[in-house]
Amino acid sequence: MTATELGSARQDVVPAAQQPQWPDPTALRHVLADLSAAPPLTLPAESDRLLDRLAAVARGEAFLLQGGDCAETLEGSGADRVRGKLDTLHRMATAVGRAGSLPVVEVGRIAGQYAKPRSRPTETRDGVTLPSYRGDAVNGLEFTARARAADPERLRRVHRASAATVELIRSLTAGSGTGTASTGAQEFFTSHEALLLEYENAMTRRDPRTGRPYGLSGHMLWIGERTRGLDGAHVAFAARIANPIGVKLGPTTTADEVLALVDRVDPHREPGRLTLITRMGADRVRDLLPDLVEKVTAGGAQVGWVCDPMHGNTFQAPNGYKTRAYGTVLDEVRGFFEVHRSLGTHPGGLHIEFTGEYVTECVGGTDGPRLADLPSRYETACDPRLNRGQALELSDAVAELLRG
Ligand code: PEP
Ligand code: MN
Repeated sequence: MTATELGSARQDVVPAAQQPQWPDPTALRHVLADLSAAPPLTLPAESDRLLDRLAAVARGEAFLLQGGDCAETLEGSGADRVRGKLDTLHRMATAVGRAGSLPVVEVGRIAGQYAKPRSRPTETRDGVTLPSYRGDAVNGLEFTARARAADPERLRRVHRASAATVELIRSLTAGSGTGTASTGAQEFFTSHEALLLEYENAMTRRDPRTGRPYGLSGHMLWIGERTRGLDGAHVAFAARIANPIGVKLGPTTTADEVLALVDRVDPHREPGRLTLITRMGADRVRDLLPDLVEKVTAGGAQVGWVCDPMHGNTFQAPNGYKTRAYGTVLDEVRGFFEVHRSLGTHPGGLHIEFTGEYVTECVGGTDGPRLADLPSRYETACDPRLNRGQALELSDAVAELLRG
């Protein structure tokens, strides 16, 4: 579907934030035309099914576990890595489901999480300045001018890799479970940040049943903290498509902003339509979250409230590595539960960055890496992820909180 058909040429929408500078617009146009004609990665009926399950989350009748890499990479999209992530999330879901006696909705940051917003457009090392890495959908991580140039052919490659991942997820979850056999078959949904609007528009199709547009690059799409501006193109895109929508909310978010977001994205107050993913930081969640929850609740919206305990708790280790401490991550989760418990609202889910491997990117947890261990297996292309052990420890802690 073209941008104009979808209305993004509207005058009141400011230019989209966080978009790459593609050096060759003609090459970009060709890729987008091909993607517009390519088969979708997901189906409208699947997004509808996820919306139903997220409605249960919003009503307090289910718990969402959403997670995966900060940034998927083409290199890391092989079957073993995907299986490791699915298996880990599934084990987390089993622990949480048993404890909370609630159904758990499993959603991966997967099969499309290839584009990253950046705080700076360029990066300087030893006096050399190059464009920042924006995810494998845009450029390469390697610090060379060649790798860092935005290449639209990459959109084709991530589309193909995402299709292969969806295929693998379908076969792993069809009948045999995700390899754990612990709870058997389980529907597994995909999600990613809807950042590259040219790509997302190209992957948008009308549902032949109803004529409504769906973003068919993933089941659930979310808007990041840096692109949630009310007059911005990302919110306008989210408002147009029928998928379940997530919005990240950082510590500067005001209640008025959230109320306006609800009006834009969820005007019919439809449970499941909007999931608010708060990432305040462990030291601020208890102060900042209550006002947002109270005012949204008073405004009549039934949203899902989900805790992202990762993005407000990143720090630089003395050895230069970007990291997060397990104890701080857990503290934000605890704060999130405390706030919802005191307001009588539902702590509806957890959104994390993790991998199924024993990487050394976040520190702490019972057997987790220490600061000095960070260099040994630091593999992320962007933010530090919980490793498999840390992720499972966190789901046990969440299980405890749900029991409590
Ligand atoms: C992310 O989820 O990787 C991310 C960039 O988060 P946020 O938009 O909350 O900063
Ligand atoms: Mn991240």
